[in-house]
Amino acid sequence: MSKRDYYDVLGVAKGASADEIKKGYRKKAKELHPDRNSDNPKAEEQFKEANEAHEILKDPEKKAAYDRYGHAAFEGGMGGGGGRPGGSQGDFSSAFSDVFDDLFGDFMGGGQRGGGGRNRAARGSDLRFNMRVSLEEAFNGLQKTINVPTAVNCTSCEGTGADGGAEPTNCPTCSGMGKVRAQQGFFTVERTCPTCSGMGQIIKNPCKSCSGQGRVEKERALSVNIPAGVETGTRIRLSGEGEAGMRGGPSGDLYIFIEVSKHELFEREGVNLFCNVPVSMASAALGGDIEVPTIDGGRSRVKIPAGSQSGRQMRLRSKGMPALRGGGTGDMFIELAVETPVNLTSRQKELLKEFEDLSEDNNPESKSFFSSVKSFWDGMKG
Ligand SMILES: [Zn+2]
Ligand SMILES: [Zn+2]
Repeated sequence: MSKRDYYDVLGVAKGASADEIKKGYRKKAKELHPDRNSDNPKAEEQFKEANEAHEILKDPEKKAAYDRYGHAAFEGGMGGGGGRPGGSQGDFSSAFSDVFDDLFGDFMGGGQRGGGGRNRAARGSDLRFNMRVSLEEAFNGLQKTINVPTAVNCTSCEGTGADGGAEPTNCPTCSGMGKVRAQQGFFTVERTCPTCSGMGQIIKNPCKSCSGQGRVEKERALSVNIPAGVETGTRIRLSGEGEAGMRGGPSGDLYIFIEVSKHELFEREGVNLFCNVPVSMASAALGGDIEVPTIDGGRSRVKIPAGSQSGRQMRLRSKGMPALRGGGTGDMFIELAVETPVNLTSRQKELLKEFEDLSEDNNPESKSFFSSVKSFWDGMKG
C-alpha cells in the first residue's frame, strides 16, 4: 500500500508554510474528531494519517527531509535507531492526546509542555539507501562505494553555525524558551519565537558558508561492506552516517536496504538454492552423469540414477548460500525435468515405436492396465 503525500493528507499545497500546515491540520482534526464521526469507520485511520503528516511537516528538519526524499526518509521502522516520526505507530488514544495538546494547549495558556523550549542540538535524520545486488554478490559479499546525498557538519564553523566558531547566545526575545506568549482577546497565545525560530538560541554572526545552519549539503562517497548471505529485506545500519545534526547535534544513522535481484537459474529459499535441470529422456531412463552450474561460479557433477522421473529432487550439500550471521552454508537442490524429444526423424520415430512395443511385452503390469482400459471402452461402445 503506498502512502499518501503528507501535504495532500493535510489538504495544503506542496511546500506550504508552517502556518498553512498548522491551519490545514486543525481543519482536518476538527473534521475527523471522533465525536463527529461515529458513523465513519475510516475517520480513525484518516485521523492517524493527518496526525503523522503533521508530526513530520511541523518539524522544519523532518519537513526538509521529507521534501527531499519523500516517505523514504522515514521508512522501514528503523529498529532502535530513533528518529522515527512520533505518532505514526501509536494507537488512536495516544495519537489523539498529542493533538489535544497541540490544538488546545495554545488556547489554555499553554506552557505546561516541555519547559526550556526544544532540543537545541537536534539529531540529524536517519537516511535510507536502497541497494540492489545480484545473487552472486549476495553469495560472495561485496564492497561497494555509494554516494549518499546528505548534510554534513560545516567545516568553516565546525558545525556551530556561528562565524569563527563563536558560541551561540540565548535568544533575547524568548530568553531561551523558544516560545513567546501574546495576549489575543481573552486568550494567551503561545507561539514559536520569531527571532530564533524556536531554537532558543541565536547566533550573532552566522557562518557564511552554511548561513548559520551548522551543516551543508554534500554528496559523500561511502565505502560499504555488504556481508555474504544478505537477502532481500536485509538492513545494514551504519551508525552515525546519516544526516548531520543541527548545530553540532549527533548525526543520524544510514540504513542500507538490500534487494537481491532474481536469478535466471537459481531460486532462493533462505540459505537453500533450487534449480531445475533438464535431462534427456534417454539419460533419465539409462542413468548417467550430468554437470550443473553452482552459485560459486563452478560446476558440479551429479549422478542421475537409472529410471529417474521428472520432478526427482537431488541435494548437493553445502552448495547453497552462506548464512548471514555464521552458521554454515545451505544446500542446493536440483530438480530433474525430463525432456520429451521433439522434431523426430523418421528413424527415431521407428525406434520409439519399436521401443514401445517392447515395453508392453516386458512390462506386463502396464500391458494389463492398458488392456483393461481398452476393454472398458470397448464395453462402453458395445
Ligand atoms: Zn527566541
Ligand atoms: Zn558554517
